[in-house]
Amino acid sequence: MHEFSYKNGSLHCEDVDLQALTTEHGSPLYVYSAGTIRQNYLAMSQALAGLDHEIAYAVKANSNLSVINVLRELGSGFDIVSGGELFRVIKAGGDPGKCTFAGVGKTEEEIRYSIEQGIYCFNVESEEELIEINRIAATMGKVAPIAVRVNPNVDAKTHKYISTGKSENKFGVDFEYIEGVYERASALENVHLKGLQMHIGSQLTSVKPFVEAVEKVTPLAVKLKEAYGIEFFSIGGGIGIVYEDALASGPESWWTEQSEEDRPLTPALYAEKIVPTLKESGLKILLEPGRYMVGNAGVMITKCLYEKKGSAKTFKIVDGAMNDLIRPALYEGHHEIVPVKEQYDEKVLMDIVGPVCESGDFFCQNRELPNVQPGDFIALMSAGAYGFVMASNYNTRPYPAEILVNGEDAKVIKPRQVLEELIEDELEALNG
Ligand SMILES: *Cc1c(COP(=O)(O)O)cnc(C)c1O
Repeated sequence: MHEFSYKNGSLHCEDVDLQALTTEHGSPLYVYSAGTIRQNYLAMSQALAGLDHEIAYAVKANSNLSVINVLRELGSGFDIVSGGELFRVIKAGGDPGKCTFAGVGKTEEEIRYSIEQGIYCFNVESEEELIEINRIAATMGKVAPIAVRVNPNVDAKTHKYISTGKSENKFGVDFEYIEGVYERASALENVHLKGLQMHIGSQLTSVKPFVEAVEKVTPLAVKLKEAYGIEFFSIGGGIGIVYEDALASGPESWWTEQSEEDRPLTPALYAEKIVPTLKESGLKILLEPGRYMVGNAGVMITKCLYEKKGSAKTFKIVDGAMNDLIRPALYEGHHEIVPVKEQYDEKVLMDIVGPVCESGDFFCQNRELPNVQPGDFIALMSAGAYGFVMASNYNTRPYPAEILVNGEDAKVIKPRQVLEELIEDELEALNG
């Protein structure tokens, strides 16, 4: 469920008219609904109410300080994948003591910084990293809290670029070797075994792989609790969101109208299938949702600049591009595209493309959509996760602005980048 809908023929985010926002702030423009983020968080924590659990929002999905702050206010913890993300959480007023640090390539600087700041736990991805954390902690006279990430070798059935729980993926320690790693870790003086972690992939739309992974790994977690006194089992993130019928999926009625089979993964279904097993473990359960928390809470608005009719196709060229939203180019990500003004009688087959000099720079291909004209705005739905965070300055295109909506209030949470800012340091180097 989310808070984007048409009101009086114009697409709104909560009570804010998106057409009016473009007049004030230009395009391309990211717009987030704080209310939707809150709803998502609460739906998840309510579904898991019967379980001793903590939600650690995966910051990499959307790391704007104001977005982090919305989740911080709800009591969320944070799953980070770099020292930079820890820095952001702290600057947003977050507690390092509620941060878990994942990732296969943590640097000495990042490890040192995280120990200094007192993070909750390192999620260690290899034995080599374990040795390194122990060494660094020793030089600081500290004991670092750690969990090891297990690779359960479960097929998440998602795009191969976002699958992480198979033996051929670079993530975690093989299920077969994990106990040996705990045994070695228990002999190290400057690490403390605090938990076990896994994360099998992203944008999972079926509950089955989660169930498979939880049933396979929970007995291991219990064994490790008995052997080493670990406190928590983190089951990762990965809950998928609706991309295809994104706009329709706003009201609650849409969800209840779907047949059991067609219903997208909901926190309630997720919880129903895995809570009984997890509860029995007696461990504190951590979850690391990223996309689920913010994905459907954001859109990217872009303006149609030109219509170009080729012999084979009609192209609508817009002012947003792959540098602003790379999901379609990177992993064939689908975004539903809707006009900001509901005023079209006609639908035509089109490619919507950006100005960047790459043929991969498209938002859709051969899609039948309302016949938007130059000057009209469209919204790319479900762009709140892995959207702005993956933006780049490729083609010397400044970053778009980001807006956070709360009811009738729309606040700029990151101003549009200006060209001077984009080349500032280079100019200094050139003239220095
Ligand atoms: C990316 C990531 C997540 C979040 O994944 P989503 O699909 O956005 O929920 C959680 N845990 C770890 C370790 C990650 O790398």
